Amino acid sequence: MGLLYLGTPLTWDETSKYADHVREHGITQFLHTWDRVKDRQGDELLWGDEVEYMVIALDNETKNAKLSLRQTEILAKLSKSITDLEDDTPDSISIPTFHPEYGRYMLESTPGSPYTGSIQDLLSVESNMHYRRLLARRHLNPNEVPVTVTSFPRLGVPGIFTDPHFSPDGAKSSHSLFLPEEITNPHARFPTLTANIRSRRGSKVAINLPIFIDEKTPRPFVDPTIPWQRSLYPEDPEAKNGAALIDHIYMDAMGFGMGCCCLQLTFQSCNIEEARRMYDALIPIGPIMLALTAASPIWRGYLSDVDCRWNVIAGSVDDRTAEERGREPLKESEYVIPKSRYDSVDLYISPDWNNRPAYNDTDVPYNKEMYTRLVDHGIDELLSKHMAHIFIRDPLVIFSETINQDDETSNDHFENLQSTNWQTLRFKPPPPKSPIGWRVEFRSMEVQLTDFENAAFAVFIVLLSRAILAFNLNFYIPISKVCRREYGKGAKRDAVRQGKFFFRKNVLPPGDITPTMSTPSSSGSSSPVEWQDSIPPKERKLRNCFPRPPRQPMLVDTPVEDEYEEMSMEEIFNGKGATFPGLIGLVEAYLETLDTEPSERQQINKYVDLVRSRANGSLLTTAGWMREFVRSHPSYKFDSVVSQEMNYDLMIAVDEIERGVLRVPELLPQDYTRSQVNGLHESKFEP
Ligand code: ADP
Ligand code: MG
Ligand code: MG
Ligand code: MG
Ligand code: MG
Ligand code: MG
Repeated sequence: MGLLYLGTPLTWDETSKYADHVREHGITQFLHTWDRVKDRQGDELLWGDEVEYMVIALDNETKNAKLSLRQTEILAKLSKSITDLEDDTPDSISIPTFHPEYGRYMLESTPGSPYTGSIQDLLSVESNMHYRRLLARRHLNPNEVPVTVTSFPRLGVPGIFTDPHFSPDGAKSSHSLFLPEEITNPHARFPTLTANIRSRRGSKVAINLPIFIDEKTPRPFVDPTIPWQRSLYPEDPEAKNGAALIDHIYMDAMGFGMGCCCLQLTFQSCNIEEARRMYDALIPIGPIMLALTAASPIWRGYLSDVDCRWNVIAGSVDDRTAEERGREPLKESEYVIPKSRYDSVDLYISPDWNNRPAYNDTDVPYNKEMYTRLVDHGIDELLSKHMAHIFIRDPLVIFSETINQDDETSNDHFENLQSTNWQTLRFKPPPPKSPIGWRVEFRSMEVQLTDFENAAFAVFIVLLSRAILAFNLNFYIPISKVCRREYGKGAKRDAVRQGKFFFRKNVLPPGDITPTMSTPSSSGSSSPVEWQDSIPPKERKLRNCFPRPPRQPMLVDTPVEDEYEEMSMEEIFNGKGATFPGLIGLVEAYLETLDTEPSERQQINKYVDLVRSRANGSLLTTAGWMREFVRSHPSYKFDSVVSQEMNYDLMIAVDEIERGVLRVPELLPQDYTRSQVNGLHESKFEP
């Protein structure tokens, strides 16, 4: 989320009048950026994570865990005391940044300055995350805890789930049957987004997750907690008129999705080509990491048959009209649009020779006028199409004070569209007047309960990103095989153990740079890739700017369909056959190119081991663990209902796991210990 501009939002009617203005100037702004930085070279690896928290208020008397709506006060307190933190902040850590988020119970934190490629920085990610959590904790009330939970299990249940309590009757932006207005960050941007999505769509958003059918779940399941007969807002009858499906958990507001927490990573690239290559390579990794980090099995007080937030968050901001969704013939709307503005990406964008045209195999609507402008400006067709696709959407929030901008120095109109296309990856151009280069953001992962796990996934992905560049890996499969359906599969209950995902069979480049493979080993003890070339000196640093091999003639012109197959998670991570060493094998081969001390390698190995154990099912996913927790709770009636008491016990357990008080060997490794921040007087931080 960008800086929050304070201003006066236009009404939806006015906003739609300015849509073309914003789009046109947005493209002009991008063209200025393009002219300024298209040839920018040599940016080093800088990278960073974003971790989102929910602030939970524990009420021990009523045994209720509620969402604390104190974001504004907490952030104010944090920013006021942040300068006093100098003395307490260990030298290895720069003072972190806290940001507001959609939910008024949410906080986001990022490192104060991005990590460099140094091995020290790689190893500091966990303590950096942990320091941020301790800081957040220090600025909360004694009964509050910051938890990194992806979806709050009892968001939107009847009764009291926020502190303080508010009624959904006052939900003037969302008109939700379940969520009060006060759940939303009060900054004008957020209620306006919420209301304008509803207005543009012409109805409330409608999300239906299949309920998990347990032994005593009533069949058919017709949710008794939906106020079917309410008649306060014009949309109230939608639920009974077909929006709410039987045997499903129905949700009707932006807050159900945008009120979720996740873990995101941003990497700076050497130049635009490297960024485009990285973007493409990470596309097939998106649904796989979603499934591996699955952490959200409970929605609106029910166990669901999905483990991840994906369909909820995609549905929660789906502003497409009935025509755009293909429900009615096109009359007022311009395009049929297959997906929500929050969803998987639609196009590979690298100009590399190994990005075969056949991989972009879906129909992608794009703005023809914008496309022509971009191409006429000299931008290649792939990138032009990507931008023209993002620009089919309408701007959702426009502030009257910023309608007219200097397109050479501002990127606000560009960002208006760019940052409300919430896709699995984001290709981020350098902002004006800043030293920042071309970046790629990886956005599909769910947030984990502990800093150890979040650091493990962050470190794994940054290492994988380097392996991609160092070994010129080719992960391309047709984009239709990484689309909606794959995300749906990745989100399914227990996808890690039961799901199969499309993946490329041979990821190594052809020609004389081909490494020879030993058989993949599940122990991970031997390096599965050995290079025939003379071995380059080992490096102390993760870096950018790897040489590209010259264009290779395709050795065999393999039909695209023969290049990939469905693999289990175990195979994707641990390898299959002679040509695919698995993502872990690739990361380990890359680690062999680094000059690490044994103790450093040991720490990295712990992270890789966590990924391995989750992928092969020897440890549960967060979602799997939560499911077990509910199903083995003494008061669970096997009817899919997650009661106030179960939620309270779950949130306490989650906090105790984070603090290292409760041991959960089915979720975390046997030798798990709570993260440490070297050089910190922790006592100052604990309430
Ligand atoms: P957004 O909400 O747009 O995704 P944030 O500002 O919340 O962006 O997070 C951006 C992340 O990128 C942070 O982790 C930050 O440390 C990191 N970052 C900052 N500058 C750079 C850079 N030049 N290259 C790569 N990452 C960066
Ligand atoms: Mg965020
Ligand atoms: Mg952010
Ligand atoms: Mg931001
Ligand atoms: Mg300091
Ligand atoms: Mg982000």
